[in-house]
Amino acid sequence: MRTTVSKRKIRDRFVQKVEELSGQKLLACYQCGKCSAGCPAVSQMDILPNQVIRFAQLGLKEDLLESKSVWVCASCYTCNVRCPKGIKIAEVMEAVRQVLLRKRCDHVEVQKLSAEEKAGVPAIALISNFRKFTS
Ligand code: SF4
Ligand code: SF4
Repeated sequence: MRTTVSKRKIRDRFVQKVEELSGQKLLACYQCGKCSAGCPAVSQMDILPNQVIRFAQLGLKEDLLESKSVWVCASCYTCNVRCPKGIKIAEVMEAVRQVLLRKRCDHVEVQKLSAEEKAGVPAIALISNFRKFTS
């Protein structure tokens, strides 16, 4: 029981932090999937943008930590424009990255990617990663 309460507190803190940093209400998302349907980087993601929102809603920090999707996100804002609920998904992606970076959990180490890997990733995703790590 104590473990359940403890996990709940961690989840709540994570959700609050993501909402605070992004300025978005995660529970407004009703999982229509329009954000994912228009995302140009989705072929390189292991969790779809709408799933990132869902995982964040549920406070599944560990799953987000292991996912490469928030790092692949190119911050193009297509999802923001498509969302019928006005949720700024790109800002949520950025907030999740910030939470993970603060815990020193860099997932993608661009400098360690092989030439073959770099050739398989959209240029905008690579540029976006450089920006994230140097800003
Ligand atoms: S488009 Fe908006 S409401 Fe639909 S799944 Fe994406 S974030 Fe949720
Ligand atoms: S901002 Fe990120 S998640 Fe949204 S459409 Fe662009 S690449 Fe996809």
